[in-house]
Amino acid sequence: MTKSAVLILLGPPGAGKGTQARMLEEKFGLVQLSTGDLLRAAVAAGTDAGKAAQAVMSAGGLVSDEIVLAILKDRMAEPDTAKGVILDGFPRTEGQAAALDDLLAAQGQSIGAAISLDVDDAAMVERVSGRYTCANCGEGYHDSFKQPAVAGVCDKCGSTEFKRRADDNAETVTARLEAYHKQTAPLITYYEGKAVLSRVDAMGEIDRVAADLAAIVTRVTG
Ligand code: AMP
Repeated sequence: MTKSAVLILLGPPGAGKGTQARMLEEKFGLVQLSTGDLLRAAVAAGTDAGKAAQAVMSAGGLVSDEIVLAILKDRMAEPDTAKGVILDGFPRTEGQAAALDDLLAAQGQSIGAAISLDVDDAAMVERVSGRYTCANCGEGYHDSFKQPAVAGVCDKCGSTEFKRRADDNAETVTARLEAYHKQTAPLITYYEGKAVLSRVDAMGEIDRVAADLAAIVTRVTG
């Protein structure tokens, strides 16, 4: 990789943004930056931002741009992000997209690619409701689609602790899908207008989607 890249993954809950970001992180040495993870950490730590975000997150709404931008800027200021970042779950509003443009312009950087993971909404409720992760290494699993090879033991690190997100239930997913279509999907047009948009069919096998994404990342960073 010759250029530090800023990549954006767009897509509704369940599209595979987190899974694919982790794979790109390993393959290209980029840093996954998930505002959802940062917000969950703030909630767990009981910070002021976490306290303000908690109720909105459990209802499946969007946390205010002010809070999200503050935690994103803090994270982007850390030195490991200089290798290039995969933004997973950010931006989610036009205000966030404009703020990201300003932040990158101030650093002499720009967006390498905004990739829309295209999926059928109808399949997302089942995808999200059944998912869980290893509490130690974060590897993702699913009740119907991907169980560990040995029941109750993580394939990747051997841990026997798993966790499920509080907002991964059918009711909240429906609200999160609605928030996506109202507030985030317009960003597809926004990035199309900036000529940085790519689209990937994300209904297929994880490895095939990963190969399509890797081809795009190679093109923009090569
Ligand atoms: P995620 O892990 O990306 O599915 O995000 C989980 C929840 O965190 C979302 O449903 C929102 O409540 C909140 N959240 C994460 N990222 C953002 C963002 N960029 N803007 C607003 N809210 C966010």
